[in-house]
Amino acid sequence: MTELPHKYEVPVKVVEKAIKLTDQTKLELKASGMMDDKGKLKLKGVSPKMLKRMKEESVDCPVIKNELAFIQCFVCSNFQSRVSGKVLCKGDPL
Ligand code: SF4
Repeated sequence: MTELPHKYEVPVKVVEKAIKLTDQTKLELKASGMMDDKGKLKLKGVSPKMLKRMKEESVDCPVIKNELAFIQCFVCSNFQSRVSGKVLCKGDPL
């Protein structure tokens, strides 16, 4: 399988305390049906166990230049895939 062109390979880190999603991200998640009104995440193909782990992960986003919750990265338009602990990121301006 050939990888799509990507600009960055961003390592996924485990954080001690889950990073909160921003209100903006929550709104976007809700608008796209990935979060219900109670703020519970519903990501397609992601089991509750995976979701729990994802909540404890973060990335240092090279585009936004800040540490973000991995969930936020996962639903980002630049997200291509996750390969052996790294996010393949398109790197387009957001
Ligand atoms: S996919 Fe989005 S959030 Fe993740 S590293 Fe790339 S630009 Fe940042």
